[in-house]
Amino acid sequence: MRFTDVPSPPPCTGCGQTLPRTDEFYGRDALAPQGLRRRCRSCRAAEARDYYTEHSAAILQFKRKRRVERAAHWEETDHWNAA
Ligand SMILES: [Zn+2]
Repeated sequence: MRFTDVPSPPPCTGCGQTLPRTDEFYGRDALAPQGLRRRCRSCRAAEARDYYTEHSAAILQFKRKRRVERAAHWEETDHWNAA
């Protein structure tokens, strides 16, 4: 089978739209067969938005915790004052 035998790209597994398999419509994924994700950019964006809406409290709490941890780390290593 040659590449030219493929008539049209597979549809997005999220919304079912058939979009060109380019990085304009699909995010990159180094592990995917074509180097592109199976869900289009707008599906990924919608998912991320939904996820954030549902988990915003947990995400913010995690970020706050990380910030405190990083600050402690920098203070400990005295890299605050590094050039
Ligand atoms: Zn989609």
